[in-house]
Amino acid sequence: MEIRTNYMTKNGLYDPNKIINVQGIILHSVGCAVDKAETWWDRWNKASYKSALVHGFIDAEKTVIAVPCMEQKGKAQKAYHVANDSTHNKYLGFEMCEYGGIKYTSGANWDKSNKAQVIAYAHKTYKNAVELFARLCDFHGLDPEKDGVILSHHEAHLRGMASGHADVEHIWNYADLSMAQFRKDVKAAMGGAAPTLPGVQMYRVRKSWSDVSSQIGAFENLDYAKALADKNKGFTVYDSNGRAVYANGTAVGKPQLKEDGSWGRNTTLRLQEIFNTTRDGVVSNQWAMYKARNPGLYDGWEWHSVPNGQGSELITAMQQWAGMAASDCDGEIGPATIKAIQRKMGTTQDGKFSYPSGCIKALQRWANAQA
Ligand SMILES: [Zn+2]
Repeated sequence: MEIRTNYMTKNGLYDPNKIINVQGIILHSVGCAVDKAETWWDRWNKASYKSALVHGFIDAEKTVIAVPCMEQKGKAQKAYHVANDSTHNKYLGFEMCEYGGIKYTSGANWDKSNKAQVIAYAHKTYKNAVELFARLCDFHGLDPEKDGVILSHHEAHLRGMASGHADVEHIWNYADLSMAQFRKDVKAAMGGAAPTLPGVQMYRVRKSWSDVSSQIGAFENLDYAKALADKNKGFTVYDSNGRAVYANGTAVGKPQLKEDGSWGRNTTLRLQEIFNTTRDGVVSNQWAMYKARNPGLYDGWEWHSVPNGQGSELITAMQQWAGMAASDCDGEIGPATIKAIQRKMGTTQDGKFSYPSGCIKALQRWANAQA
């Protein structure tokens, strides 16, 4: 995940002279349909805005750090996110964005008609929050599993430390995510493990899997991990399960995809390898209309609001493989293409990739069985 630092110095509550001793971190979810960290930053970075201030915003792609909190061990500038001053004096606060199409009905209740998209987005911010919180705990010497160190806004409320909000559980309860698992995943991430999440394979470069401290890099893209191992004698690339996949300049085992029904960069990379197309982990030139309809298309899809007619090399190759007529092989992942892939995989032909998708699972299983 990308972490940008861009302090909201114009926010009405921003004060470099107010320094706190960091004892924990509170996680929030914004509670409305705004999916970009920058949007919040623009709204809150005004002298007239005095309602709240957080240390940063997490979205599906990145975190923007908005108030100094990783400059001095154990210290941070004060922020205001739970309407409780004694909590503000001890805790960092981060907001996670939410799916841009989420429809709130009243309070923390939302319309479940696009639940799959809300969940898919929540899984991305979860992963990014795990990574960020692991870095923060590392930096400030915090134990994420110690009682009261990491709390959701809701948990802080239940402890009488915060205003009466329901975030983050109002979404996480529907997304198979929990604060208990989050704390475990943060702890594990401090030791170099990937969060227990769908869609993401992480390749780590170490001397041995058990020698966690020897790690010199971790990448979602296997090629980057291989390149780093090539430059450092004696280092091996391991997948998320701790299986060696590359050592001494050669593959020692075939990388296995997680068979989780969610088509992200790693699935794309493996398919690009199998279909012998450009290996960049990205499905290029896709029409954004198909993004919301197919929440199983997880990550690494290049969406354009207006179709540019260029399509993707990989999808074209897959259309041919799935037996579509040459004139229909346009490189676009529309309903006809999805049906053709579903037919090829012997799964339900409804022209949609749900989340998780049985067809994508079958496709991943098929990819894992290829040479
Ligand atoms: Zn909150």
